[in-house]
Amino acid sequence: MDGMEDAVKDLGQTAVVIGSGFGGLAAAIRLQAGGITTTLVEKRDKPGGRAYVYEDQGFIFDAGPTVITDPTALDELFSLSGKSMSDYLELLPVSPFYRLCWEDGSWFDYVNDQAALEGQISARNPADVEGYHKFLAYSQAVFEEGYLKLGTVPFLNFRDMVRAGPQLARLQAWRSVYSMVSRFIADEQLRQAFSFHSLLVGGNPFATSSIYALIHALEREWGVWFPRGGTGALVRGMVRLFEDLGGRVELSAEVQRIEVQDNRARSVRLKDGRQLLADFVVSNADVVHTYERLLAGEARGEEEAARLKKMKFSMSLFVIYFGLKRHRPDLKHHTVCFGPRYRALIEEIFRGRELASDFSLYLHSPCATDPSLAPPGAGSYYVLAPVPHLGNAPIDWTVEGPKYRDRIFDYLEARYIPNLRADLVTSRIFTPMDFRDELNAHLGSAFSLDPVLTQSAFFRTHNRDDKIANLYFVGAGTHPGAGVPGVIGSAKASAGLLLADAAARRLEQA
Ligand SMILES: Cc1cc2nc3c(=O)[nH]c(=O)nc-3n(C[C@H](O)[C@H](O)[C@H](O)COP(=O)(O)OP(=O)(O)OC[C@H]3O[C@@H](n4cnc5c(N)ncnc54)[C@H](O)[C@@H]3O)c2cc1C
Repeated sequence: MDGMEDAVKDLGQTAVVIGSGFGGLAAAIRLQAGGITTTLVEKRDKPGGRAYVYEDQGFIFDAGPTVITDPTALDELFSLSGKSMSDYLELLPVSPFYRLCWEDGSWFDYVNDQAALEGQISARNPADVEGYHKFLAYSQAVFEEGYLKLGTVPFLNFRDMVRAGPQLARLQAWRSVYSMVSRFIADEQLRQAFSFHSLLVGGNPFATSSIYALIHALEREWGVWFPRGGTGALVRGMVRLFEDLGGRVELSAEVQRIEVQDNRARSVRLKDGRQLLADFVVSNADVVHTYERLLAGEARGEEEAARLKKMKFSMSLFVIYFGLKRHRPDLKHHTVCFGPRYRALIEEIFRGRELASDFSLYLHSPCATDPSLAPPGAGSYYVLAPVPHLGNAPIDWTVEGPKYRDRIFDYLEARYIPNLRADLVTSRIFTPMDFRDELNAHLGSAFSLDPVLTQSAFFRTHNRDDKIANLYFVGAGTHPGAGVPGVIGSAKASAGLLLADAAARRLEQA
């Protein structure tokens, strides 16, 4: 914090953070650590946002993120106030990172071991080993430029974008992830293996900037992790850190309005009528929800909501959480089950007007790493299918959801989990309508604004509003974008601006 922390500490200034997703939690921690008295208000009864936790009959289900990367970004949140992450949580390594399976019965274990990777690549197409080396070098270069240098820097004006232009041009950021992978690698399944990652953060590999190829280098550099006790343990660790620093969390506290006067946010009005005064307001809620609902009637809210609603939103997800009386040791922690089609299916997920007849799935089996997430001998699982958002496919999921669940269970039972239904103890579904209604997500998108190049950096919601000078944004709709490292990076960018603004105000007032 470069000494700024102490400068702010004298101020007695206050902030309200709306929403307890990873972006909101990380921002709240940074502000509280920086001396701003911070209150975090969350609509739901538990913190975490998309990383909510369901518990049922001894089964613990992490609702959202399960692939935890960049532990250094997490560690920084603890160390900036002199704490140690290991006092709050334990990260367990996951290997393989993923098992990728195809319908022809072949699979690829995506591991962090060069020889094992090359062996598998060579078995498919010896020429692709050389291509993989080139792809890895490219991925490392984008990781340096796109993540390490630009990932936590706010893009408040077009100048910032122009400044990054030469790097983006050199890295051919206008190309898609898939097209870049295909320049180096010929085997179609390997192309899928090295391009599907952008889907994890809501990006279509055929349209998202090749900048997202950096995920490969990021995983190779820092590994893939899983918190002991599940992703929920990471959420709880961050909440505990925030509270230990003196921050206050209010759950079941839905914000109805951000009250603005003279282009400054003055307070936050809760649904129960209470007014929380604040010197600074940070929204981790969906960006359209914030401008359209929380700033309803304000010219700024209307103007920005209208702009955002013209943009493209990322896909949604259909998720089934289920508990089986048997843990299945044959399943890896993370399995990607590729369906019969790749490009055409993804096209339908991003643009289709209805549900495709086939699907590709991600299957989560956390007991492979931590058996404590289910009763002894049993297994907790979730399976998700990317599906169109409600703006593209206005499906009535109260009708289609149970049918879709049955289709997915049939598929899993036939190919991955024999006797699934006989072993089933509990299950629940989460649909695009739940993303919309529970999380206030525009169009039920699971990842907010589609991360195509023309909607990246400066073109996303700015980390600080252009007109309401003390209103900041963190989370998937801001720069750099969705995913746990992304939203934690957004919190660094936004909290950095806020703390600098707070220090400047102090100087003005002195
Ligand atoms: C099923 C699934 C799996 C995923 N898997 C991964 C993964 O493996 N790895 C990875 O890195 N990323 C993954 N992601 C993406 C990642 O989870 C998200 O991008 C990230 O967690 C979003 O964080 P956020 O800060 O934007 O906040 P969110 O999690 O979106 O939280 C926003 C919070 O704001 C609250 N809120 C909304 N409106 C109000 C209001 N009016 N008043 C008060 N509170 C309000 C909401 O209730 C919510 O708690 C996954 C996402 C999903 C859905």
